[in-house]
Amino acid sequence: MNHVASQLRTGGEPDVLDVIIVGGGFGGMYATYKFREMGFRIQSFEAGDGLGGVWYWNRYPGARVDLPSVDYSFSFSKEVEQEWTWSEEFAAQPELLEYINFVAERLDLRKHFKFNTRIVSAKWHEARQIWELKTDAGETWYSRYCIMATGPLSVQKTPDIKGWDTFKGESYMSGKWPHQPVSYEGKRVGVIGVGSTGIQIVQEVGPQAGELYVFQRTPSFTMPMRNQKLTPEYVAEVKRNYEGLRAAARASHVGGLRPQSTRAFFSVTPRVRDILLEDAYKLGGLTMLGTFSDLLTNEEANEYVANFLRSKIDTIVKDPKVAEKLKPQGYPVFARRPCLDSSYYETYNLPNVHLVDCVEDPIVEITEKGVRVESGEIELDMIIFATGYDGLTGALLAFDVEGRDGQKLRETWKDGPRSFLGVGVEGFPNFFMTVGPNGPSALANIIRINENDVDFIARAITYMEENDLTGMEPTEESVDRWMEEVQRLASRSLLNKAKTWYVGANVEGKAKGLTMFTGGFAKYAEACEAATKNNFAAFSFEKRREVVPA
Ligand code: NAP
Repeated sequence: MNHVASQLRTGGEPDVLDVIIVGGGFGGMYATYKFREMGFRIQSFEAGDGLGGVWYWNRYPGARVDLPSVDYSFSFSKEVEQEWTWSEEFAAQPELLEYINFVAERLDLRKHFKFNTRIVSAKWHEARQIWELKTDAGETWYSRYCIMATGPLSVQKTPDIKGWDTFKGESYMSGKWPHQPVSYEGKRVGVIGVGSTGIQIVQEVGPQAGELYVFQRTPSFTMPMRNQKLTPEYVAEVKRNYEGLRAAARASHVGGLRPQSTRAFFSVTPRVRDILLEDAYKLGGLTMLGTFSDLLTNEEANEYVANFLRSKIDTIVKDPKVAEKLKPQGYPVFARRPCLDSSYYETYNLPNVHLVDCVEDPIVEITEKGVRVESGEIELDMIIFATGYDGLTGALLAFDVEGRDGQKLRETWKDGPRSFLGVGVEGFPNFFMTVGPNGPSALANIIRINENDVDFIARAITYMEENDLTGMEPTEESVDRWMEEVQRLASRSLLNKAKTWYVGANVEGKAKGLTMFTGGFAKYAEACEAATKNNFAAFSFEKRREVVPA
């Protein structure tokens, strides 16, 4: 469709764009490409001075994706698929950023972005059916549609540790890593947090630091990544078969190429179970998650796999006391994001690496010199905070979003996020989210979700344009129905049984509960597809009307 911006305003008033896109990660990049290609007048905003979102900000040592690179990449451009070549099965952050910059160059996306610019408020003008967005530079922008591609993990939490900003040595947040190289040589380094991020940092910094102190409160389950260089033959095979691989990914539960199973845990003998688990462990990556169909619903099956992984720690870590402390207890395996490592447990065999068990010996405060735990002060030269994110809703609620009748998103979502498909919110017309908090989000390949969501939004906007409509929002009934389904599925899931960012447990005062859609990517994509039928019956629309002057 070749669209010409509608002229909503009369002389003297600022220009109204068609689409404003917030965020320069995968979602924002694809949305920018898509709406430009459709002929819309667009403007995109990004807080950083480059594209890449998570991969722009997270330059911490050892940062690496835990999905296969060939899968964790855009599928919408056949040219990009054929021209870009991945070097490793699981790409490291520098290669991911190189890929992102390659895509940006190849598709000429950068010119649409205003960098170093944060949106601080978004307000819907009902009379004129437009969004007004303000930036931190004091500018005001107007558009008919607003797309929030702000990402589920873009707001790093301020560490909830007394005195966290009083340390006089070097101090780094994993999600705001400096662009210059950081040296650990001979330094006493402390890493706080052992989620996916902390684990990657520990295994990278341990061998380089003078002394490394790892402050662990809740141990994570981590499995071998078994990363490898990709051969030219394999890359050629993937390039020949991209179409089929993408289709398979889209038809899967996780939106990716990870093996899946329909086999229930107790449907096979103990001998077969053990062989399958050993094989998955040897194969590496997230293969283990695909060995059985009921690992996230059957507690007994889950505990068996948890014990299998705990027993592996004993085979690697030499000091039995340290091994015991590293074993996660009291929550189901995979209920926290499963981590992948290449030498995490081995790092604890190094004489300069010390595990500080913050359950036994809690952190009291950060001092000018280091970290004070109950048993005393540990003096450090550097502290790395890998303490997590205000996930799913953090970025959307970080600024002031005001919809119809003055309603604020923060108020609408005070008991937790509610939306239709994670894409649209009742009371917020023409406001669309990619990878929203009620879609599969962190539970599936985020690039597949972004592409799905942008395509869905594009179809919705096309429908609006073709029918001379000016406002679109999901009905209360469709939001209720979707959220009932989200909650019905969530109630069966073991993901509820761990204190994680998945359920908002890591941020004080945040509404708690599993709000992601746990039915899998394929079912989610089907629901999006179904919602485009019957003239977007799940939405209510506003017909074009006379423009009321401001
Ligand atoms: P996270 O999983 O939320 O882990 C934060 C860690 O900090 C936890 O161990 C937490 O302990 C600890 N922590 C927080 N406050 C603390 C305190 N006051 N004292 C001691 N410890 C404290 O965050 P993340 O590791 O940054 O990972 C977030 C998500 O990013 C992951 O789940 C994943 O989706 C994504 N990620 C992916 C990759 C990848 O693809 N390879 C890499 C990194 C991140 P408690 O659990 O006890 O609160």
